[in-house]
Amino acid sequence: MFGSASKAVFHLIARSRTLKRLASRYGMRKPSSFARRFIAGETAAEAIEAARAVESRGMTVTMDLLGESITSLDKADAATRDYIAVVDAMIASGVERNISLKLTQLGLDVDKANTVDNLRKILERAEPAGFFVRIDMENSPYTEVTLEIFETLWRHGHRGIGVVLQSALHRSEQDLQTVNALGARVRLVKGAYKEPKAVAHQTKAEVDAAYARMLKTLITKGHDAAIATHDPAMIELARTIARDHHVAPDRFEFQMLYGVRRDLQAMLVKAGYRVRVYVPFGREWFPYFMRRLGERPANVMFAIRGIFGERG
Ligand SMILES: Cc1cc2nc3c(=O)[nH]c(=O)nc-3n(C[C@H](O)[C@H](O)[C@H](O)COP(=O)(O)OP(=O)(O)OC[C@H]3O[C@@H](n4cnc5c(N)ncnc54)[C@H](O)[C@@H]3O)c2cc1C
Repeated sequence: MFGSASKAVFHLIARSRTLKRLASRYGMRKPSSFARRFIAGETAAEAIEAARAVESRGMTVTMDLLGESITSLDKADAATRDYIAVVDAMIASGVERNISLKLTQLGLDVDKANTVDNLRKILERAEPAGFFVRIDMENSPYTEVTLEIFETLWRHGHRGIGVVLQSALHRSEQDLQTVNALGARVRLVKGAYKEPKAVAHQTKAEVDAAYARMLKTLITKGHDAAIATHDPAMIELARTIARDHHVAPDRFEFQMLYGVRRDLQAMLVKAGYRVRVYVPFGREWFPYFMRRLGERPANVMFAIRGIFGERG
């Protein structure tokens, strides 16, 4: 994990309109453009093609139509329709039926009730077709409401949904107990956002220690655990915990981001583990892309070289 100061810088840069315009013009233009390392394409067709390639390497996928922080009801409703179209395209294509979405993409900043309606509309289309829908976790102002919406839907009988918990947040160990008690599925991550001291661990060592503790609870007491990390130490620990507690490899899965640590992905498949790749796509890729840069300094040089290469 990159330092929290640089995470903050990247979150600021992510709001820059000029940079967004520049990046959007050059980032996905050609198959070799720099953003394509992390973003599978701008259309569902391109993303499905990328998903097929991932599946051909023995892994599964979760598809993410990128978008977040929507500011009007109309846009939220349009994003919902777009998601339903993605569900339909995935059904037609035969790729695995698994999606990830963000509640601010469905209008959480505008109207909570409408967001729940929008999520229900997606679930009504996706669940009967056998989809699993993961609600991504955004930054801490949304933690409580995201878990509340999830729990409401769960209590209304929706079973094709799951949540994400971030080890960076102080509250997450307690949240893990709550979600485990419901019998629901958790994706465990370290957390991609710069968070204040009042709610979150500030050092990598603390975030990692919390991740390790949560790993043990998730693997031994969770349901279909999703261990989402590229950190070799955490992956090794997960394997050890599972072995020591006789949890078979088909009872949990590793998850990694498209374009990140493909060597580790392949190694885990070869070792007999389930690996799911998070495949993001769509035109609103800039904030997601900036979070990936914020996680690793080498990615910044890679992107800068890409921008100048494209313009030159
Ligand atoms: C499938 C999946 C879903 C996620 N969903 C969410 C979510 O809903 N909410 C949320 O807050 N966060 C989410 N994240 C992001 C997560 O919180 C972390 O920010 C991210 O995974 C980096 O942390 P790490 O566990 O890989 O470990 P780190 O300690 O950050 O990194 C360990 C090693 O992994 C490699 N690595 C990590 N990131 C990158 C990168 N961007 N590029 C290249 N190499 C890298 C490097 O080799 C690094 O040394 C998700 C991550 C994954 C894999």
